[in-house]
Amino acid sequence: MSSSPRDLLAIYPGSFDPVTLGHEDIARRTLRLADRLLIVVAETATHSKNPLFSVEERLALLREVFDGNDRVECGSFSGLLMDFARERKAHCIIRGLRAVSDFEYEFQMAQMNRELWPEVETVFLTPDAPLSFLSASLVREVAAMGGDVSSFVSPTVMRALKEKLSE
Ligand code: ADP
Repeated sequence: MSSSPRDLLAIYPGSFDPVTLGHEDIARRTLRLADRLLIVVAETATHSKNPLFSVEERLALLREVFDGNDRVECGSFSGLLMDFARERKAHCIIRGLRAVSDFEYEFQMAQMNRELWPEVETVFLTPDAPLSFLSASLVREVAAMGGDVSSFVSPTVMRALKEKLSE
């Protein structure tokens, strides 16, 4: 079997409000499979109606967290993810799968996205077990009530949360 060099680009979309260790874990796993990773904040996320951080703030946090990794780029997009993936010539979309609760929505999205642009594969990755119950919304809720979330987010995000919640 001959192998040709290939520059495989993966897109990891989400709300990242804020980026958690669960997201970081999925990104790290993606880099074992893909050459380049583009992490993008969805500006028009349908399910995040009560954001804590603005899109710009979320993007700045992502950039800080992944600073120094030259295979990772962070950005944002609006409109259809598949239009964005086509423009960027991405090979795959990465999604994280936690408990069963993620499955139905993710399955629907993957099938719909394939209808919209069949050239891109959706790849599901599972996080390290202790992170499999973690969501950004849980981090927001616990932090807002004064709980310690330092084992779920990076020190960068910890600082941003403290600052935001003291506003
Ligand atoms: P959430 O607000 O639910 O944390 P995002 O929209 O920011 O979600 O998540 C983007 C993607 O990252 C989704 O595919 C989501 O399933 C995945 N993800 C989020 N947290 C985790 C985690 N702890 N482990 C694995 N995947 C995760």
